[in-house]
Amino acid sequence: MRVAIAGAGLAGLACAKYLVDAGHTPIVLERRDVLGGLVAAWKDEDGDWYETGLHVFFGAYPNMLQLFKELDIEDRLQWKEHTLIFNQPEKPGTLSRFDVPDIPAPFNVIASILKNNDMLTWEQKIKFALGLTPAMLRGQQYVEDMDKYSLLEWLRKQGIDDRVNSDIFIAASKALTFIDPDEVSATIPLTALNRFLKERYGSKVAFLDGSPTERLCQPMVDYITEKGGEVRLNAPLKEIVLNEDGTVKEYLLRGLNGASDEVLTADIYVSAMSVDPLKVMLPKPWREQEFFSKLDGLEGVEVINIHLWFDRKLTDIDQLLFSRSELLSVYADMSNTCREYADPNKSMLELVLAPAKKWISKSDEEILAATMKELEKLFPDDFTGDNQATLLKSKVVKTPRSVYRAIPGRQAYRPTQKTPISNFYLAGSYTMQEFLGSMEGAVLSGKLAAQAISQDYSVIQEQTKETITA
Ligand SMILES: Cc1cc2nc3c(=O)[nH]c(=O)nc-3n(C[C@H](O)[C@H](O)[C@H](O)COP(=O)(O)OP(=O)(O)OC[C@H]3O[C@@H](n4cnc5c(N)ncnc54)[C@H](O)[C@@H]3O)c2cc1C
Repeated sequence: MRVAIAGAGLAGLACAKYLVDAGHTPIVLERRDVLGGLVAAWKDEDGDWYETGLHVFFGAYPNMLQLFKELDIEDRLQWKEHTLIFNQPEKPGTLSRFDVPDIPAPFNVIASILKNNDMLTWEQKIKFALGLTPAMLRGQQYVEDMDKYSLLEWLRKQGIDDRVNSDIFIAASKALTFIDPDEVSATIPLTALNRFLKERYGSKVAFLDGSPTERLCQPMVDYITEKGGEVRLNAPLKEIVLNEDGTVKEYLLRGLNGASDEVLTADIYVSAMSVDPLKVMLPKPWREQEFFSKLDGLEGVEVINIHLWFDRKLTDIDQLLFSRSELLSVYADMSNTCREYADPNKSMLELVLAPAKKWISKSDEEILAATMKELEKLFPDDFTGDNQATLLKSKVVKTPRSVYRAIPGRQAYRPTQKTPISNFYLAGSYTMQEFLGSMEGAVLSGKLAAQAISQDYSVIQEQTKETITA
């Protein structure tokens, strides 16, 4: 079966990968000249990579890890020590670690919290543990029900000290969703925490050994094309053209550089675009259907990724760090964490600026100046006094609409991969799957879309066989 998929982010590529595995022929259409969507990366004039986002993989990403295995590229994941490292704003330049011992879950995570005495008092730890008990005992249904509360409301309801919020949850919430605990749905961090508490290596982190575009997306494209599929860059979907019965007749692709528009027909059509462009493109008759009108409740959140190259080494830490800064979220010295970006003498910091609402329209210079100011707190020895590190170059990548804004109540708006239109399916990390707006969520959504298509196809085949026999 020919399946046209709009969008070559991880969801679209995963959908195509699992469709070729099932014997179908996907044609992936990407509007930009680069693979990967939110994991896209580019090389600058010196051959250095810069990316849409600083990305890490967790041990609790079963579908992503399975995909690496199936593509035979598992050795590209660089697993780090099992620890979470936080900056301590009140003591500039110092770090606090949650070292997770190699013992079964949940005792490993509990031990890491009990051993850390920099960030929480014993009273706070006990209240924190008691507050989390319902989430652990009552499982995912309880976690889903908590979507009506913001994380901050939920913490207060559970009697958990505001200090736990400011010490841990602001950092976690910004890292997971790019928004603060007073905005984020309680379901999001509780889902992540539940997984970390269930799986021995769930919170263990890996970095890719190079750019996601080259080291993850390209092998997916190679796999898809070797098995008869196709991936086309510079192929923007312009319009979803309908038949009279409301099913998809064809995809109309915008002709670039003066070329005329192109009609592409297939047996099945998939949108693996993010939710914002999909909403703009929905055909009018579909908008009246509740399934599609609900998408209005979802929209992408702003985030900014900053790259700073320095003339010397600022740190030898080979791990993701939680900055606990008001301006920044997580960061890493990619010259230590990523094989292809490695440099023994110079640092390349990649830092995520979030929440980015008030920064997204500011100039790169303003963003850079504010970030450099924060570095005085993260690396006081290198950015105050004599003999300061010199910034060699920088790159700021702004994404005004990234993953869906995970505020309370959004779970009800997330659509299934199967739609009411018989030949149209959805993939994308915003669609309903258990892994939220993440790389794992994107891959799982693509897999679920491919499964739904294959299942529906086998039902049609059965029906055709029965009609012929009758
Ligand atoms: C700064 C940042 C840091 C992140 N960090 C992490 C992390 O550490 N770990 C993690 O798991 N996740 C992280 N994420 C989230 C993760 O990147 C996303 O959840 C995931 O990549 C989304 O994939 P997707 O395929 O669903 O959507 P997208 O990547 O948005 O893909 C959609 C694709 O559709 C294309 N498209 C849009 N319109 C059209 C059209 N008209 N025609 C054709 N194509 C079109 C787009 O160009 C894009 O390629 C991060 C994201 C950002 C931005």
